[in-house]
Amino acid sequence: MSETEDVNDPGDVREEETVESDEFEPVQVFGDSESMDLRPGSDDCYKCSTCDTNCPVAEVDDEFPGPKFQGPEQWRLKRKDDREVDDSITSCSNCMRCDSACPSDVPLSQMHNTARGEFVSEQMEKLSREYVRNRILANYGTLARLGSKVPRLTNFVMGNSLVQTLNEKLLGITSEREFPEFAEETFREWWEKRGGTAASKERAQEARAQRGGAKIERDEKRVAYFHGCYSNYNTPAVGKATVRVFERFGYEVLVPPQQCSGTPMFANGMLEDARRSAETNVRELAAAIEDGADVIASCTSCSMALRQEYPELFDFEGTASVAARTYEAAEYLRLHEDLDGALADAEVDLDPVGTEVEGEEDGDAEFAYHAPCHARNQGIAGQAVELLDHLDGASAEDVGPSCSGISGTYGWKAEKYDASMEIGAEMIEHMEEADAETGLTECPTCAMQMEHGTGYDVRHPMEVLEDALVDGESA
Ligand code: SF4
Ligand code: SF4
Repeated sequence: MSETEDVNDPGDVREEETVESDEFEPVQVFGDSESMDLRPGSDDCYKCSTCDTNCPVAEVDDEFPGPKFQGPEQWRLKRKDDREVDDSITSCSNCMRCDSACPSDVPLSQMHNTARGEFVSEQMEKLSREYVRNRILANYGTLARLGSKVPRLTNFVMGNSLVQTLNEKLLGITSEREFPEFAEETFREWWEKRGGTAASKERAQEARAQRGGAKIERDEKRVAYFHGCYSNYNTPAVGKATVRVFERFGYEVLVPPQQCSGTPMFANGMLEDARRSAETNVRELAAAIEDGADVIASCTSCSMALRQEYPELFDFEGTASVAARTYEAAEYLRLHEDLDGALADAEVDLDPVGTEVEGEEDGDAEFAYHAPCHARNQGIAGQAVELLDHLDGASAEDVGPSCSGISGTYGWKAEKYDASMEIGAEMIEHMEEADAETGLTECPTCAMQMEHGTGYDVRHPMEVLEDALVDGESA
């Protein structure tokens, strides 16, 4: 090359290109702009792998590629919709730990839910045993509604070891776990018998009159309680405790018509089932909000669904307001009332398994507390331990940050049972090391795993608050 030749000088070539550029037509990298989907979020991933190291399933299952692949990588690969969703998406338990671990706010669980929904609707064989089993598990609320009509018979049948073996052989539902018992009276039956909202309003007014409005500033205190399936059909004591604690603080409680929050449906990719449930829930809860209520839930997976999954996946009218006005029950009281102060003025007598007894004082009742993954996701993981710190007669020890391993329906699948127990081993070990004989958690399926792994009874924080704050009420 001579000194006068300059590679950066295009010379005559520039002129030719200028002529061509007048006729330039942009290349359609992503095809038609109408269908272009830039998948917002995937480009925020800078591949740090923090999500992978926080994924409990990836830790025990070598075949599971982890959240980074399930989320941003798969979304990038699918930009042009010419690839199928990888079937490993069905192994994600939807614990959502990756969501809270990501430093770049990549919407991982939204990506997983969307991919799982697409996999199930377009790629999964609808007559396969796996699909039928997952559909049954995802629609636990429907089964529970039928089973709870004849609770004794259902409990007898589902507790039979032959039925459990058949469930495993025919459907792939593990026979290692005890099927949860149905209550003889559902929460909603109790609520109706008790007089519904009118009775609640009266009780709330009495509580306000008794306390002279000292801590109560608002004229109207109203909450809509989302009890979910499990408190309704299996543990109505949790629902009753929630109602009584809120009434004690002067709240009129509404219990709107409702369906499953959709949590087990999201986890199994049954997005159409989830959409139908969500539509009812949003309509009813939005109406309660219009009526001056905030929404409370006693199950952290239900509050998670209303707050995060609904606005990520659906756009019914009212979805955003339901998401913005939903709280976990104790979280709501801490925000709006002096709950810590009320507990500091109270004391409880609890027996070694954490239920209330009269006239015995044998030191603090100790609880081994497990924070559900979905509580972590909402930033309320340490709340129950902090609350009991204020209360004379009870205390709680946090058994650590690990996942319980059951993740709703994940641990009920026969092929996932061993992985579920391996994930939960750390929590179970810490529960056994803690100076406690009773478990404490806000999530009903974490409670199942805690009971299954240790044999302990497990209570809900609302039940302990009821023991501490509500005077010997039976109705
Ligand atoms: S944690 Fe977030 S940024 Fe890091 S690899 Fe996972 S998705 Fe990407
Ligand atoms: S939701 Fe849980 S199981 Fe699924 S990829 Fe994220 S961390 Fe792993």
